[in-house]
Amino acid sequence: MMHSINIVWLKRDLRLHDHAPLSAAIDAGLPTLICYCFEPSLLQDDHLHPSHQRFIVESLSDLSLQLTQQGHQLHVFWCDISQLLTQLHQHFVIDTLFSHEEIGVMSTFQRDQQIAQWCQQHQVTWQEFPQFAVKRGKHGRKGWSSFADQFLQFPPKQTRINSLKALSIDHLSSVKSLKCNRLPKEWLKSNSFYQSGGETPALKQLSLFIESSLSEYCFHISKPDTSRYFSSRLSAYLAYGNLSLRQVLHTLHQAPSSRHKSAFYSRMRWHCHFIQKFESDCRIEFEPLNPAYVAIIQQQQERLNPDQQQCYFDAWSTGNTGYPLVDACMRALLQTGFVNFRMRSMLVSVACHHLQLDWKQVALHLARHFLDFEPGIHYPQIQMQAGLTGFNTLRIYNPVQQSLKQDAQAKFIQEFVPEIAHLPLELKHQPWLVTPLEAQMLDAIPTRCTTPIFNSDETGKAARERLWSWRKRAEVKEQVPTLLRNQVKSDA
Ligand SMILES: Cc1cc2nc3c(=O)[nH]c(=O)nc-3n(C[C@H](O)[C@H](O)[C@H](O)COP(=O)(O)OP(=O)(O)OC[C@H]3O[C@@H](n4cnc5c(N)ncnc54)[C@H](O)[C@@H]3O)c2cc1C
Repeated sequence: MMHSINIVWLKRDLRLHDHAPLSAAIDAGLPTLICYCFEPSLLQDDHLHPSHQRFIVESLSDLSLQLTQQGHQLHVFWCDISQLLTQLHQHFVIDTLFSHEEIGVMSTFQRDQQIAQWCQQHQVTWQEFPQFAVKRGKHGRKGWSSFADQFLQFPPKQTRINSLKALSIDHLSSVKSLKCNRLPKEWLKSNSFYQSGGETPALKQLSLFIESSLSEYCFHISKPDTSRYFSSRLSAYLAYGNLSLRQVLHTLHQAPSSRHKSAFYSRMRWHCHFIQKFESDCRIEFEPLNPAYVAIIQQQQERLNPDQQQCYFDAWSTGNTGYPLVDACMRALLQTGFVNFRMRSMLVSVACHHLQLDWKQVALHLARHFLDFEPGIHYPQIQMQAGLTGFNTLRIYNPVQQSLKQDAQAKFIQEFVPEIAHLPLELKHQPWLVTPLEAQMLDAIPTRCTTPIFNSDETGKAARERLWSWRKRAEVKEQVPTLLRNQVKSDA
């Protein structure tokens, strides 16, 4: 007779506590396999970067250690989940597959569709639980605000892991060949410039933030230098589910009231608000939110010289535009996987407005390098910052003004663009203003730093004219009422 089992399938929910699928499996009482699959068919996705995989490996190690301490085991496989299910199905009666809902990119959405079909064909119940305040499907927009308030007010739940009925190792010989025995070296090499994954470091960061940085939060969030230490730095932990939103909010509630606390709480809500937008309109991974921009952008791209655009992309994506703050941000991102909100927005503005790069290429490059890549926040933000909606505020940043305002002492610039660290402060923001005499006295400044690849006054003016003329077009304006009607209302 075949044994009945349950499966907890971990995805972007790599934690032990406040984990609804795990708690449901414990309540169900059957022997349970807790598994994670590195899925070869998804590993080719263009959004992925080895730093993401390293974060996952660290998260799995942390989880595995916690489970082992409680006498349980995490099973990690190197195969598509469908392959694992098929093999297990030959030896067990799979009662229920428990997992969190995933609001992912097209490749994970299609994988989930296949799994739903597989479960239906094999009479396996697939029970999914929401991870955020996000309602499935297009209709999620209606009544979102009260739904979100209700969802977020629930206290987090401790997982009674010692009540879990484990699956004996002997039972698993049938899937031994699918086990993950070796990982690519670059996923294993620790890198101290990046945050480490795992529930343990996530909980540490959460208490550090609430106890030490929250009281100064608003003063620093726009500054590229100090935001690294005073904003919460919880984004990657939330993206991989090392923490649940409820765990964060529960800890936040214990802090005294302040405008910093309210500002942080709003961002927790934005987190779900943006993911709900993406869930309700996921085509924005591939096309502008405002359909009229499809033709407009295509015509614009056809008018540009592809070789020139490639040079611009290469310079922007490696931090070599000649604008110190822009280059510092990109180099910081490449080195550490993080820049703050304002600088992300400026990088998109420089790429899409000043350099007229293809927004999809820009979105992919940033997604690969943001350690916290979260499709549901990333794509709606890209659409807004790249001006593809037809109704959000157009942000065409002047990189010099941002530099003078957000990094006045040029501390961030000189950390990431060390070749200009010896210049006087004013020249660190605009090294091209150096006179030939100063250049001699200051000892040869590389020309690459003194000649930016674009003139932001000219490209900014041209971008303003271009974007406003597009926005005034009848076909763009025509779409706006429908788009606004379909917006997720966060205040109603
Ligand atoms: C073009 C662009 C792309 C972005 N892509 C991502 C992404 O892939 N993943 C991601 O987590 N954030 C993304 N953001 C939002 C924001 O920049 C980051 O969440 C933030 O910088 C992370 O740092 P933190 O955790 O210290 O944030 P905090 O300021 O401490 O905020 C706390 C949390 O609130 C949420 N949050 C903060 N700002 C926003 C916002 N504007 N919209 C939605 N949620 C927000 C995040 O979960 C964040 O961790 C993007 C912003 C832009 C402009």
